[in-house]
Amino acid sequence: MKQIRELTDKLVNKTIEEQFQIIDKIYGKDAVLSTSFQLEDQVLTHLVFEQNLDIQVFTIDTGRQFEEVYKTMNKTIKRYKKNIKVYYPDTQAVEKLVSEKGPYSFYESVENRKECCHIRKVVPLNRSLEGKKLWITGLRHEQSSTRKDLAIIEWDEKHNIIKFNPLIDWTLEQVRDFITKNNIPYNVMQDNGYPSVGCAPCTRAVRPGEDMRAGRWWWENNSKKECGLHVKD
Ligand code: SF4
Repeated sequence: MKQIRELTDKLVNKTIEEQFQIIDKIYGKDAVLSTSFQLEDQVLTHLVFEQNLDIQVFTIDTGRQFEEVYKTMNKTIKRYKKNIKVYYPDTQAVEKLVSEKGPYSFYESVENRKECCHIRKVVPLNRSLEGKKLWITGLRHEQSSTRKDLAIIEWDEKHNIIKFNPLIDWTLEQVRDFITKNNIPYNVMQDNGYPSVGCAPCTRAVRPGEDMRAGRWWWENNSKKECGLHVKD
């Protein structure tokens, strides 16, 4: 796709700060950054807020998150004195789900789990991307096998939007170095066995040597460890 190639060319050999400035200049408020307050997201949020860019930062509150996620959000708002837009799931859909299937239906089958992720994550995400032209994510190759082929700029067919993955080649060590160097607030769970933090009932700490996303939906053996936000099918 010509647009993807041209945008990729504009970002080649630029620092990450410069890349953000270029994206901001082209897309401004039509670009959004999704954060779940994980280490990668904190790096990206810092780049937007510290440079006073017009890019919009948003998060999805599924209603099932760890307390530490809210604490990290609060620290981030205080540090940068900027707003983070919050999207919630549809109230009636959540009421129906929990009333009919109980609060832990996601443990019973992959289908149920995907239903919960759809209501609590996918639908609010679709709302957040409506009318936007570019979506910035903290995806990295290292995170999982489903992410190893991603490029820095991609066309997201499902959401009809350009995806900018500025950390795609970064190692976890680089992410942590950036956080330390810039004194960026982060979720302390990530120092304590949680390399990937999702909803509280669906995330456990990983054991030494385990895959970074092994703690997500750990009771499922063969499903893709994705919630539907970044899958292509
Ligand atoms: Fe529901 Fe778990 Fe998905 Fe969160 S991660 S939306 S609680 S199934």
